[in-house]
Amino acid sequence: MTLPFSIDERHRIHTTQLDVPPRLLLGPGPANVHPRVLAAMSLPTLGHLDPCYLELMDEIQTLLRYVWQTDNPMTISVSGTGSAAMEATLANVLEPGDVILVGIMGYFGYRLADMASRYGADVRKLTKAWGEVFSLDELREGLETHRPAVLALVHAETSTGARQPLEGVGELCREFNCLLLVDTVTSLGGVPVFLDKWGIDLAYSCTQKGLGCPPGLAPFSMSPRAWDKLQKRRSPVANWYLDMNLLNRYWGSERIYHHTASSNMNYGLREALRLAAEEGLEQRWQRHQNNARLLWEGLADLGLVCHVREEFRLPTLTTVRVPEGVDSKAVARQLLTDYNIEIGLGLGELAGQVWRIGLMGYNSRRENVVLLLEALRKVIA
Ligand code: PLP
Repeated sequence: MTLPFSIDERHRIHTTQLDVPPRLLLGPGPANVHPRVLAAMSLPTLGHLDPCYLELMDEIQTLLRYVWQTDNPMTISVSGTGSAAMEATLANVLEPGDVILVGIMGYFGYRLADMASRYGADVRKLTKAWGEVFSLDELREGLETHRPAVLALVHAETSTGARQPLEGVGELCREFNCLLLVDTVTSLGGVPVFLDKWGIDLAYSCTQKGLGCPPGLAPFSMSPRAWDKLQKRRSPVANWYLDMNLLNRYWGSERIYHHTASSNMNYGLREALRLAAEEGLEQRWQRHQNNARLLWEGLADLGLVCHVREEFRLPTLTTVRVPEGVDSKAVARQLLTDYNIEIGLGLGELAGQVWRIGLMGYNSRRENVVLLLEALRKVIA
């Protein structure tokens, strides 16, 4: 072959075959992946319009409706991580000048506010100390003051470990004629979520936490009310990739190519959802609660204190206060190097003050709690 140039060989490295350490992922996510999910992901790739793959898309939609407890027709897996579906919820219903009220009680509330501002929304913030949650009265007051088109809340704030109660919020939003948008990234698959019963209009999640898949896909759901707002837009959705009108032509009956979806990632999600359906939601939520309680009791025995009041504590993610004089990073590093256990450090305002321990999906198991407590006991002794 005659080449126009000689090949630059500087980047041609010859690396070893990939080998990764056997980590136990007990941080804020990703969590370890169920072996059945990994096995499903290694099946042969299919085309994104293959009839077999289209059938699998239907199954994913149905099973997502199950884990989210919704009948929303527009329930899909977005290609991308949780942040992509977060952006999808905002991009589809916000138009420049729309008022959005964001409940901020941690890191991810700020991310919602930042994204919303990039779509030209008039962003109003309702803030709370990190580790606390909003009462219904505080939300009512916020709606009365700001009269938003959308109220956005984080159900499970991964930076603090707090669970925002959602009972009654949907009714409130209907009273004020606004849409309710909820981040369920650290709750789906591990904590009760009832999209329809709670009147949630827009929800998103991730695959790498309570569902027990690798990161890479992001569940998304939109109620008929939210769909209606999308149809009445004066301007096109400012994000082509995440425009639900276009995506609906692929996920809906038309089956028109939109983008090359990852069939292997979706095999994994299907298997993870199948596992959730086999187990049943009530059992799954109870399992997460039981293992979290075991963790909380064990931490108390070690003299450690949880950051969030038990009533609002997430079973999927526990924040533990770092005792005076202890180097939080050094402890996390030693857990990783000596025990192959990953836990998370504090994020944002809680940096240096807490550790974040995740018991999510496949990882919410008694033996993992025992292993971690034993390792932690030795490391902080
Ligand atoms: N929202 C919450 C509550 C999260 O915990 C995360 C990630 O941990 C995200 C959104 C963003 O998800 P991702 O990192 O998958 O993009």
